Amino acid sequence: MTKKENNPVWAGLFTRTILQRGKDYYQKGKAKKIVGTKEGYSITVRGSRNYKVEVYTDEHGWYEGVSCTCPYAQEGNYCKHMAAAFYLMDAQFVDFSEMMGKCWKKIRIMKPLL
Ligand SMILES: [Zn+2]
Repeated sequence: MTKKENNPVWAGLFTRTILQRGKDYYQKGKAKKIVGTKEGYSITVRGSRNYKVEVYTDEHGWYEGVSCTCPYAQEGNYCKHMAAAFYLMDAQFVDFSEMMGKCWKKIRIMKPLL
């Protein structure tokens, strides 16, 4: 797999600082595993605490929402855990960039499932 130097298209969801922190988390292996769920995908991101990122897809498999259990996301922000999760998905899903290129602007922040 070739490593892209340019920011991925979905990077536009995040501030530069948050994106960098998310990338750092991803590179340090804090986001490891993608688990398929009924709603889409679930990624646990380790840090001082563990937070859970959920990525929601619609019936056609398009990404439509994302949530994280951290306080920053609860306030309605795209957080570093989401960025780390997206980096992981980008690395593991061959069509992630292409799909996200078409729908990233529509991805809403949702309330985490409890
Ligand atoms: Zn978070």
